[in-house]
Amino acid sequence: MIGDDRQAEAKAREAFVTWLDRHVLVAGRGDALDRLDVAPDRTFWLGRLACEEDVLRQNAHDDRSERLDPCAIGIRIRPASGPPWSLTVTVRARAWLKDGTDPEHPWHKSDLVEQTLSATVGSEGAVFGQHQLRGAFSAVGAIDLSTEVRVEVEDWHEATELVVQMVNTSPKRLVDSHIYETQLELGGVPTIPFQLESLPDSFRYDRSVPAYGINVGVEVLANDRFRTSDTITVQTTRSGYWNAPYDPPDLSFETLAKDPLPELGVLVEAVSAYHEAHWSAFALDRRQIDDGWDVNMRAEADIAAGEAFAELDRLRTGLQIMRARDDVSRAFQLMNSAIGLSARGRGYSAWRPFQIGFILSTIRFLVEPDEEADYVDTIWFATGGGKTETYLGLLLTAAFFDRLTGKTMGVTAWSRFPLRLLSLQQTQRFADALAGAETVRRREDVGGRPFALGFLVGDRGTPNKIVPQAENVNDVTPDSPGMPERFRVLLHCPFCRDENLIMKFDRERWILAHVCTNDECNWTALPVYVVDQEIFRFLPTVVVGTLDKAASVGLQQAMRGLVGPPRRLCPMRWHGFTYAPRSKAPNGCLVPGCQGGPVLKPLPMAKGRFPPSLRLQDELHLLRDSLGAVDSHYESLLDHLQNELCGSRPKIIASSATLTGYDRQVDVLYRRRARVFPQPGPRVGESFWSSRTDDPLRRFVAVAPRGVTLEHVSDRTLDALQGAVRDLLANPSAVCAEVGIDRRHADMLVNLYGTNVVYGTTLYDVEAASRSLGNNTTVTGITIEQLTGGTGFDEVRAILERLENPEPAFDDRIHVVAASSMLSHGVDLDRLNTMVMLGLPLTTAEFIQTTARVGRRFPGLVYTLLKIGRERDARTFQHFGPYVRQGDRFVDAIPITRRSRRVLDLTIPGIVAARTLMIREPASERALSTPRTLREYARETGMTPAKEAVAVAELLGFEGEEDALHRDHIRSWLNAWFHDLEDPATRAKFISQVGPRGPMMSLRDVEASAPIHD
Ligand SMILES: [Zn+2]
Ligand SMILES: [Zn+2]
Repeated sequence: MIGDDRQAEAKAREAFVTWLDRHVLVAGRGDALDRLDVAPDRTFWLGRLACEEDVLRQNAHDDRSERLDPCAIGIRIRPASGPPWSLTVTVRARAWLKDGTDPEHPWHKSDLVEQTLSATVGSEGAVFGQHQLRGAFSAVGAIDLSTEVRVEVEDWHEATELVVQMVNTSPKRLVDSHIYETQLELGGVPTIPFQLESLPDSFRYDRSVPAYGINVGVEVLANDRFRTSDTITVQTTRSGYWNAPYDPPDLSFETLAKDPLPELGVLVEAVSAYHEAHWSAFALDRRQIDDGWDVNMRAEADIAAGEAFAELDRLRTGLQIMRARDDVSRAFQLMNSAIGLSARGRGYSAWRPFQIGFILSTIRFLVEPDEEADYVDTIWFATGGGKTETYLGLLLTAAFFDRLTGKTMGVTAWSRFPLRLLSLQQTQRFADALAGAETVRRREDVGGRPFALGFLVGDRGTPNKIVPQAENVNDVTPDSPGMPERFRVLLHCPFCRDENLIMKFDRERWILAHVCTNDECNWTALPVYVVDQEIFRFLPTVVVGTLDKAASVGLQQAMRGLVGPPRRLCPMRWHGFTYAPRSKAPNGCLVPGCQGGPVLKPLPMAKGRFPPSLRLQDELHLLRDSLGAVDSHYESLLDHLQNELCGSRPKIIASSATLTGYDRQVDVLYRRRARVFPQPGPRVGESFWSSRTDDPLRRFVAVAPRGVTLEHVSDRTLDALQGAVRDLLANPSAVCAEVGIDRRHADMLVNLYGTNVVYGTTLYDVEAASRSLGNNTTVTGITIEQLTGGTGFDEVRAILERLENPEPAFDDRIHVVAASSMLSHGVDLDRLNTMVMLGLPLTTAEFIQTTARVGRRFPGLVYTLLKIGRERDARTFQHFGPYVRQGDRFVDAIPITRRSRRVLDLTIPGIVAARTLMIREPASERALSTPRTLREYARETGMTPAKEAVAVAELLGFEGEEDALHRDHIRSWLNAWFHDLEDPATRAKFISQVGPRGPMMSLRDVEASAPIHD
């Protein structure tokens, strides 16, 4: 019964989305109206045709104006045989006429003109139907309108093509010479499909296209019957996560916590059987014949097969390690217990096979860290959700493994998100997972320090430190306004889920804590650190933060805790690890006014075990252009520091939405080799890890607006969407009957489809959309909110909160969210299911990422309004089906280089400063924070610009012939720096002020949009 109910709900959503789309289409064409108060050519954006004379007059040879208000629609086919062709063409249209009968609504619509014409067309083409169509228009009162059918034969292509069009040939002098609600149907000519151009990995795709539309889409009714459509609709479906003829193994957290090996064995065997069936030479031979692959396509398929089998080998290796090593399998089991706890009450209790596949295929890094550090393992998540949980699984396995093998404290993983994209929701998931791990650690007597989480973000989030007394405007003291509540990060207690958390500043321990107020909860102060210095003092198991924070290694000597060991331990309880002494911290303890004295305790663990074994990078594809270039230098710096301090390198794990060029990107960023999981399957959307289902995912609708502005179309589309949902609210029985569903679904549908997203690729578009929506709608009381890069952190949180938990009354809710690319990442709301995109985003990756924000759990509806005057938008309209279904192939390789002198200017200061703070200073056992002390040190140790330049070039990998210019650049920069350092009259008070410029404060200091060249 419950299953039936769920199915009925799913069917209702699917039917409703189809109905909504129909509703918008009708609004665009005007089907539902008989009378109008305004001119129809300034209202409707679909189905209309201008008169040819108008188009010719504007510019005889300009395709652009032809697309903006076209005078023809048509269908392009490839006939299966030569001329003559006998074809049947049906033309449908209406006219809008102005009369005096109703002064309020001077315009009325004519009856339908529908004519079926037959003609035999030879190799010279034909024009026909003028007479018959003119008669038909006259008969409905439009005495001056005229239309004709033109057939052009293009015999210069590889195969002959026929272009059949209906053209509005009405004279220009009329009150309105447009015709409306046009449609063309073509039959009688058997066709052969067009073949999309062959691209790399073409073997995966169906390349055939039955027909092309001209200014329209084409519906295929049969091999020889086609009909134009005003919009182009592409329905995508959800993936399944298992693709084998038998049931999947039991991958529940519970079973894997108890006895994982048998189930993992079944999984690996299933992969092996799948590969044999789909990737073996035998299987590929057969497909080569069936799908007509050429030699190149076969060669591509062979390479892909090699990679698929290599993935299988890694899975086998992972399984063998699990069998052979008790510490690895125990860590994996404990991780499953922990994830099981953190998933309680969330509607899932098991892994998807690909998640376990990823963990198994990378787990070797635990036992062979040096070898595996050569590879960046990237999880490619285009096919389905669950990437954060996948990370967390790997990360907790590593954390338990550390505890089981003697790493009793310190950071296991540093997980970075690009810029502002770390959401509170994501942070909470990390906290929940660690709470699960901590509960398990205690229960199972695993030992070591408690597991904890650190939240290390850029300047706008949480404080770097808390001081007793403010000396600068930005200093935070225990009594600062909003303290401590404004630094709350968690949404609920990760142990008991109670939302009544309070923030407390504990003066004795000098800690800003999240405190759970639930009496039943065993955990009062939660093991979560949100102040940078607390993270350095306690080195929590997992540090989650934003990418830009890496810049702190050039500024803050205590960042050493994230690449190597701290100095010592303060004898005072709760003070934690110490770092280099400074005037404010004479014994190196970071607690202000520490009374612990100069005698510190030695580190309680071997130094070499302190650095993180994992660095994670979320949304790797965003590290491009100048941000990618700057980060590549800082990644090298982090590696260098860890290597100098501990002789080790961390494993890097990343996630990416796109596959194009990831290997080169990984090479540039990390100087490591790239591996991706899962490997794409033998057909698009299908691999062992994902299968096709019929579950609707998103309905993509491409709209090429005619004759009116994009803003007008966006407003009217939102108006139609809002109007439809308000109708449903006001007349649930009537609307549900029209949709063909039971009325009990009405509330659910209002909830899921009552908030629309309007997405602009530029801030200008977003703001224009917000402004114009208010003045250009028939529905009143639409509440609109903006989510852009300029929206404050608090506001974002408040808007997301309202979207997630909407007000009970529909009128009080947010109805439209106007968003920029800020929305594209980390926003995960089941209630966002309709989107209007203002123009095609600049990159296909952005299109994929952005549209993925709607339809996350329920069927989504996405309108892509094309700026049809632009060449790229027009091309995409024509290939919209392949564009949506094969989007990955349209993703451009990520532009990134580490060889940029402009970027070197930005990064050298941080590199030199970090080497001083973290390597020289600890080695010299004295403070090197001022020019004077560093100058002395340089003299004593023989530090020279030339030697330092060699070290900097080496750590950045500028060692080849082609890098000579960059080495020169580094040397001259260091000459200037030394010159300043040696100058007794230097103005610099601290070493960060020496030289042409100081270390970057944040990786964001580089303009993300500025192009970077070698
Ligand atoms: Zn609690
Ligand atoms: Zn202390």
